[in-house]
Amino acid sequence: MLNIAFIAHDRKKEDIVNFVVAYEQVFQGKNLYSTGTTGQRIMEATNLKIHRFLSGPLGGDQQIGALIAQNEMDLVIFLRDPLMAQPHEPDITALLRLCDVHGIPVATNMATAEILVRALDRGDFAWRELVELLKPELK
Ligand code: PGA
Repeated sequence: MLNIAFIAHDRKKEDIVNFVVAYEQVFQGKNLYSTGTTGQRIMEATNLKIHRFLSGPLGGDQQIGALIAQNEMDLVIFLRDPLMAQPHEPDITALLRLCDVHGIPVATNMATAEILVRALDRGDFAWRELVELLKPELK
C-alpha cells in the first residue's frame, strides 16, 4: 500500500486541509502520515485516519525523514511557508534532501501537489509499488 506524508507550516495549514478535503477519496485506502498539528487539523476535517508524528519543530520532519531514508515513503506533500523563517530549518532541508536522495516525489507548493494527486488518482505511482516488491534486492 502506498505511504503518503502531509506537512504544512502554520500559514499553509488551511491550504492543506482544503486540499485533502477536496481529494479525500484519492487518499482513502493509503497509509497516511503527518506531523502533529497538520494531521490533527486534517483529521478534524475528514474521515481519514492519519498516523501523526511529533510536531515539526519538535522532530516530526526528522521522523518522516527516517521513513524516507528506509524507502518507506512514496509521496510527500509538504506545503512550506516560503515567507517566514522556521526554527527547524535544518530539519526541513534534511527532509527535502532525503527525498532527492531516494527519488521520492515531493510537492512543496499547491500547484505541484495538485499535479501529483491527479497522478496518484490515475495510478501513476504503480512504479513505487514495484520498488516495494523489489526492496529486498535493493538492500
Ligand atoms: P505541525 O508541524 O504539523 O505539528 O505544525 C509542521 C511544521 O510546522 O513544521
